[in-house]
Amino acid sequence: MSRFRAVSVRALQGALVSSVCLASSALAQDLRGTPAPVFLSGEDAHWGYSQTVSPQHWGELPGNALCAAGLDQSPIALVTAETDRQHHLDVPSFHYGASRVRMTNNGHTVQFTYDAGSTLQVGGNTYHLAQFHFHTPSEHTKDGVEYPLEVHLVHTDAHGTPALVVGVLIKEGLVHPGLLTAFRNLPKHAGEHSQPLSALINASSLLPFNKAFYKYVGSLTTPPCTEGLQWYVMKNPIEMSDSQIAAFQRLPYLNPNNRPLQPLNGRVVSAQRRH
Ligand SMILES: [Zn+2]
Repeated sequence: MSRFRAVSVRALQGALVSSVCLASSALAQDLRGTPAPVFLSGEDAHWGYSQTVSPQHWGELPGNALCAAGLDQSPIALVTAETDRQHHLDVPSFHYGASRVRMTNNGHTVQFTYDAGSTLQVGGNTYHLAQFHFHTPSEHTKDGVEYPLEVHLVHTDAHGTPALVVGVLIKEGLVHPGLLTAFRNLPKHAGEHSQPLSALINASSLLPFNKAFYKYVGSLTTPPCTEGLQWYVMKNPIEMSDSQIAAFQRLPYLNPNNRPLQPLNGRVVSAQRRH
């Protein structure tokens, strides 16, 4: 325990309740309504990815009707040949600074809470990077291909509401130096916290060099499946080593933690036209 700060589940409840994690709002409600959960596994929490709590049951939970009835849900299959290629698509500009590495295993993913001050600007609006987290395998597919991991960079609007997510697909390849320390110290169990001392990360390292993207309007991929989110999914993947990918995939109850593909229902996926 010398290198890392460990906190109790009770102490964590406050952090989870105030977090803006895509995955945490339903969990936070669970925490408020439950006396003292000692351990939250994917099965004990009210939603998860297998059996009776699997994604096809999410819509049955109070407050989560959109998960079943919503028409603009995420994730989706991204198909390059079917995108609407535009000349004048607003291109996001990233203004990310470094952040401490503060990880929470919330029973649905490992969330990296990002230090304040990093923003994304697009279409005259500014969004704040609040956290990023991982899914395995990827939630979006690109031209029929599923990737071993996907990272979601969650941005909030001026009211602190999640409003824009940048998705980046991750393929097996070179080691990701920016995630070296973090992925050696992933919090293993639900309710655990890990903050490797003096470790920093710059979320820019989670973006591919070529920032061509698909854009569409979708939802949270976790309950309550709130709609109206802007999605920017990078066309090009980033790389992580097989051992880094395996470190996440070995975490109990988090493999898999991807929601199945959702129907487009007539939505248009935009992409930049090549010049
Ligand atoms: Zn996500």
